[in-house]
Amino acid sequence: MSQKALVALVGRPNVGKSTLFNRIIGRRLAVVSDVAGTTRDRLYADAEWGGMSFTVIDTGGIEVTEGRNTAPLSEDSEQFLPLIRQQAAVAMDDADVIVQVVDGQTGITAADREVAAILRQTKKPVIVAANKLESSKLWDTAYEFYELGLGEVFAISSLHGAGTGDLLDAIVEALPPSAAQEEEEDDSIRIAILGRPNVGKSTLLNKLIGEERVIVSPIAGTTRDAIDEKLRWHGQEFTLIDTAGIRRRGKIDVGIEKYSVLRALKTLRRADVALLLIDGVEAVTSQDAHIGGMLTDENVGVIVLINKWDIVEKDAFTMPEYEKKVRGELSFLPYAPLLFVSAETGQRLNKIFPTVLEVQAARHHRLSTGVLNDVLRDLVARHPPPTKAGIQLKFYYATQVAVAPPTFVFFVNRPEMMHFGYQRYIENQLREAYPFTGTPIRLLFRGRSEEKK
Ligand code: GDP
Ligand code: GDP
Repeated sequence: MSQKALVALVGRPNVGKSTLFNRIIGRRLAVVSDVAGTTRDRLYADAEWGGMSFTVIDTGGIEVTEGRNTAPLSEDSEQFLPLIRQQAAVAMDDADVIVQVVDGQTGITAADREVAAILRQTKKPVIVAANKLESSKLWDTAYEFYELGLGEVFAISSLHGAGTGDLLDAIVEALPPSAAQEEEEDDSIRIAILGRPNVGKSTLLNKLIGEERVIVSPIAGTTRDAIDEKLRWHGQEFTLIDTAGIRRRGKIDVGIEKYSVLRALKTLRRADVALLLIDGVEAVTSQDAHIGGMLTDENVGVIVLINKWDIVEKDAFTMPEYEKKVRGELSFLPYAPLLFVSAETGQRLNKIFPTVLEVQAARHHRLSTGVLNDVLRDLVARHPPPTKAGIQLKFYYATQVAVAPPTFVFFVNRPEMMHFGYQRYIENQLREAYPFTGTPIRLLFRGRSEEKK
């Protein structure tokens, strides 16, 4: 469970948000390899500066509303305004520090004023980054942006890096003292309910709480405004996270409900197991896939619920066909159990808690070193590791170093020779030995010389 502070970059298109994002996270991405085989855009990543670590989010990549026009939006068009308003509002809700990025070369635009007007309503720290100011001769133009009324303005060049150090100092200084509030240590299994608007989250929540009427008490979560609710089922305590977030709706625009990636991120970082709801009638959308991808990255267990199954027209083939389709679309979550449910009628909701228990057990499962190395020996024998320039990748031994998620270290002669295909093969073989239902597993490859074996 990680509770890093969230730093959001907001601003109209083309001011350089994603360039700044890459600049801030750049050094780190070189070290940390992304989940192999997925091509999702990274909207957020962890960064470190001055010994502080935080998560930075490029709100420009967040699709906030349903059914947004996917045509490219010109920078200052009227059409774009609802979107930037919402992105700013989302940042205000869920970020700890907000950076408004503006184009220092073009000066203040109407859209910049729009964003600033929204951000002025927050009590959270806001910093202005006047970007594209490569030369110190241009720095004076940054003063103009004080007019936005948001506080300190930094002249930077995201492209070249000028001024970004000072900006990062200011960001780090503005971080809350400790974003890592203590979570209550108990045996409760923490469940997040995720999904886009109208998929049935609050209906499910009410059903789960209504049917297991043994609510311990609503407790304030660590996220501002978050209310967690506890319930007991067969002697096991479960905590439903951020139930206030599920119940609160339609805050920004009538008819448009916000779908906050930030909020989802914050919620699932406190969770053991996430229930990802998919609309059985509408099927998987890119937003669903996005949240699904976050689940893979955040080490949380996941169960996919195909909801509204009561109103899906079906015959004997519908379920397997549907499952195949969903599995194709959420291909990076092959390990997630899939349940066809109806929050409305209660159909198969009784499977949810047992499945959560199964996933939680899998997250904490340990393969013995003996079993693990038997699996390793067999898999190498069946399918030899990659070779390159006459050298073969060799495995010495493997050991499980962590749970939640289960993490395995393989000692090899040449870690750099490992490739995605073989890695996936190893993962599949481990899951043959034990399914690790609903949980990602991590494989690490460490170099080791043969003598030290
Ligand atoms: P976003 O839409 O706000 O995410 O903007 P991008 O990061 O995609 O940048 C938009 C354009 O501005 C791209 O062509 C970038 O190369 C350019 N750009 C970004 N940062 C700088 C900068 O510091 N200086 C200059 N001259 N161009 C920049
Ligand atoms: P949320 O926005 O994800 O919290 O979604 P809601 O729980 O508010 O549900 C949106 C709409 O879908 C409501 O009209 C619900 O009655 C309806 N709904 C939710 N779950 C089901 C279901 O399983 N079957 C049917 N037929 N309707 C559902």
